[in-house]
Amino acid sequence: MQPKTTKHTTRQLRVDPHLCEAHALCTELAPDIFDLGDDIATCEPDVDQTHWDSVEAAISACPRQAIGWVSD
Ligand code: SF4
Repeated sequence: MQPKTTKHTTRQLRVDPHLCEAHALCTELAPDIFDLGDDIATCEPDVDQTHWDSVEAAISACPRQAIGWVSD
């Protein structure tokens, strides 16, 4: 299920660098959003709705639960 958003809230995607262990599942599931650096993944914080499904799949697949949404 996708998190709800309203006109008054925005959310940004975040990878916790302290949790990420570079398993790369996120880059496989959402290559337009995630990028794998030397030892951690990074992501585009502002995600277009067209990518929400792949991002949610990456969030579910991450074995470290390192990916999440941050609301304003
Ligand atoms: S799947 Fe999770 S642990 Fe693996 S690279 Fe992506 S954020 Fe890091």
